Parts: sequence; C-alpha cells; structure tokens
Amino acid sequence: MGRIVLEKVSKSFGDVEVIPPLDLEINDGEFVVFVGPSGCGKSTLLRLIAGLEDVSGGRILIDDQDATAVPPAKRGLAMVFQSYALYPHMTVRKNIAFPLRMAGLDKAEQDRRVEQAAEVLNLTDYLDRRPGQLSGGQRQRVAIGRAIVREPAAFLFDEPLSNLDAALRVGMRLEISELHNRLGTTMIYVTHDQVEAMTMADKIVVLQAGVIEQVGSPLELYRAPRNKFVAGFIGSPK
Ligand code: ADP
Ligand code: MG
Repeated sequence: MGRIVLEKVSKSFGDVEVIPPLDLEINDGEFVVFVGPSGCGKSTLLRLIAGLEDVSGGRILIDDQDATAVPPAKRGLAMVFQSYALYPHMTVRKNIAFPLRMAGLDKAEQDRRVEQAAEVLNLTDYLDRRPGQLSGGQRQRVAIGRAIVREPAAFLFDEPLSNLDAALRVGMRLEISELHNRLGTTMIYVTHDQVEAMTMADKIVVLQAGVIEQVGSPLELYRAPRNKFVAGFIGSPK
C-alpha cells in the first residue's frame, strides 16, 4: 500500500499562490522524484502530502482514502529529515525508537523494529553510540531508520543528502535506491539535482513555479522533453 493521488491540489500563502491546482498520481512502490529549481514548490508539495501544510484547495487520497484532513501522524507516511535532525544526547537506539515511543508501542515491539531497521541499514554495531560518534553517512542512515521503524506506506525525502559532501552523497544515493529495492515501498524524493533525479527515479515530476511541466520516466524525459525548460533542466539534446 502506498498509492497517493493529488486531485486539483493547490496552495497559497496569503495572497500568493505558490502551487496552482495540480493533479498527480503516485503508484504503490514507485520511486518518484520531484525536481526543479530552488523555490519552485518542491518542499511545499511534499509538506502538503505529509500533512505538514494544509491544502488551499483540492484533495489528497492515500490508498483510496481521502486524507486531506487527516493529521500528519495518522497518514501512515514517514518524512526523512536531514541527519542533523537527530537528538545528540540520545543513543542511536533511542533516536530510531523515538517515533515508536511517541506512538506508545510496547518496549518489546520497539526493540524488535529498531533491531530490524538497524540490520537493514548496517547499524547493528552502532546502536549504543550517540550521533556525535558517527560518520555523516551513518547519521543519515539513523535518520532513515527513524522512518523505517514506522513501517510507513511511503517515505518522503526532502533533499536528505544536501548537507553531505559530494563523495558521500553518491554512496547514500545508492543506499537509498538499494533500500527501495529491498522494501518495495513508495518513495517520494525531492531534489534540485538533475543527476539525482535521473539516476534514482522510476518517475520524475519536473516542477517550475509550482506547475508540473512534465511527468515521466528518466528515459521518456530525456528522449521527449515536452518543452525547453524540461530539456534544459534534464540536459536533453533537444
Ligand atoms: P523549493 O522546495 O522548491 O525550493 P518551496 O516549496 O520551499 O520551494 O517554496 C515555494 C515557494 O513558496 C517559494 O516562493 C517560497 O518562498 C514560498 N513559501 C514556502 N513556504 C512558505 C511559507 N511558510 N510562507 C510563505 N511563503 C512560503
Ligand atoms: Mg525545498
């Protein structure tokens, strides 16, 4: 489960409409990348899906249920924040278990899920460390672990690698793609980086000024960009 449908979803801040009404379908298990220049509305769109912002118009359906008015914690989605959002005074185990503690899961179930996530993310040997004793890549994995334990219908990533150095970014991209292959869960990944979009996505959503310019696979966008903006952004020969 992890099908997300936006129907005429729009968003204004005050008098400024940053996202005119748009439609979008994300299928269960897809890796979807929202790409576009800074300020085009990628984060806003992701936050609308997460429920961290209210829509100004339209509807959001998650697995065929109207989720438009459902609070973030009840949408069954997990937002992955950058690694600096970890709690420095808590161990890796406690950081990963944090959302489960908040949700009131019993200790045995918390431990089970944390250990499972740690195994998937190669963090088993690091559960008793604190974030300050980890590398940047390990910290990013802890941030992802905190999402995995919630067993979400979809993962939402907002430029999760932008504070990592270039070499580490390449490795983490591969790790996130590998995680997607393993879990098969819907992932929505926001980036302004065309390379990230072209290498990671099943489906790319190209945004400009809150408007979807094109939706398609990397190859479709490369071969048949709909306009100059998409061509320029994707680096297509058109
Ligand atoms: P991106 O993530 O693509 O860089 P954002 O979604 O952050 O873009 O922003 C899209 C537009 O919405 C920008 O013009 C930004 O200034 C505006 N915006 C975002 N959040 C707010 C807010 N809370 N209040 C007012 N304007 C906002
Ligand atoms: Mg953003």
